[in-house]
Amino acid sequence: MRRIGIIGSTGSIGTQTLEVIKELNSEGQFSFEVTALSAGNNAKLLAEQAREFGVKLLCIDTEEGAQYLKEALKDLNPEILVGEEGLCALASSPMDVLVTAIVGMRGIKPTLAAIAEGTEIALANKETLVAAGEVVMAEAKRRNVRILPVDSEHSAILQCLQGEKRAEVDKIILTASGGPFRTMPEKDLEKVTAEDALKHPTWNMGGKITIDCASLMNKGLEVIEAKWLYDASYDDIDVVVHPQSIIHSMVKYRDGSVIAQLGNPTMKLPIQYALTYPSRVVSTVKPLDLSEIGTLTFEKPDTERFPCLKLAYEAGRTGGTLPAAMNAANEAAVALFFKGKIGFSQISRTVEKAMASHKTIYTPTAEEILAVSNETYNKVFKDAAV
Ligand code: NDP
Repeated sequence: MRRIGIIGSTGSIGTQTLEVIKELNSEGQFSFEVTALSAGNNAKLLAEQAREFGVKLLCIDTEEGAQYLKEALKDLNPEILVGEEGLCALASSPMDVLVTAIVGMRGIKPTLAAIAEGTEIALANKETLVAAGEVVMAEAKRRNVRILPVDSEHSAILQCLQGEKRAEVDKIILTASGGPFRTMPEKDLEKVTAEDALKHPTWNMGGKITIDCASLMNKGLEVIEAKWLYDASYDDIDVVVHPQSIIHSMVKYRDGSVIAQLGNPTMKLPIQYALTYPSRVVSTVKPLDLSEIGTLTFEKPDTERFPCLKLAYEAGRTGGTLPAAMNAANEAAVALFFKGKIGFSQISRTVEKAMASHKTIYTPTAEEILAVSNETYNKVFKDAAV
């Protein structure tokens, strides 16, 4: 029996993780117990999940949400925690794996809290590694904690590395769908709405990551995530646009061989692989039929129209607190775009401006990273209000 906690259980990754757990439990292939769940505001869905999986420890971001849970789950009487402190307490509770399905920099503290307890991390929350990769990886190493990727690209890389020698790797090649505006002329990008940006061609995901995909910031965040997960240099991480999202990423070896992982675009497979690693078990995912797909195409990313990818490489190469500042500025810019306060093209300009004014602290502590993240986020919001 593996005890699983999920932070962000009501979102896209969180709900799919619970589906995977249900399927694996019912087929008797694995045995999981869900011990802790958390949400931001969605108390109704959290209550339903707690009831279905018999979960005794919950956390929600608001007092009203906590009140709702108390009423709705009176008969189950679970422990109900609130806010960021509650989330860290939940992440520190006894469990074998914490699935970080929360969105944004809010994931940093609970991830560190879980690592401090020696809990394995199934990491979906890439923002944690982008902002605090140095600190998180050092802590994980010190505590001998495994961090397994949920992100489909990083799961693909993990799979392509199995049985190979790390020293023989030449390049990590991340694939990118290119998002909904891949072929749109630059002048039209100014006018796109959040509704347009939420129409992702191949993946069905939460709001923030869908916008990140449209701006190519998601791929930039993934470059930094790959650097930390696989101890790679930025010169050895390439990005190729592959609109069909069938090849989830590749590893090129020094003899010129390229090993790729393929599958239909669904997060269920990488979620399952993170939970059952290193085992492979039967899944409900639609099998891949390449003759049905017919064509796989590839192109170079256009960093003139989508500068966020370039900005992420720059932040990653500089290191220190610059990736945290970039990540926080992007989170704020995406939130402002959702509110209709800035246009789509202003997302990259906002991030660039925040990076230009940031004074990088090298080898930062976790506290410094959190302070930079909060200050940058608030400053971007304040500047937009003027
Ligand atoms: P969603 O927006 O769908 O879900 C986010 C989850 O976090 C929800 O449970 C939400 O609660 C919770 N949450 C949001 N804000 C807070 C807060 N302030 N305090 C506590 N909880 C909060 O996101 P996704 O599932 O799409 O993404 C989650 C993470 O996984 C992101 O880092 C993303 O980049 C990464 N990822 C996602 C993929 C996908 O296919 N979706 C693929 C690869 C990586 P509530 O529902 O109550 O708002």
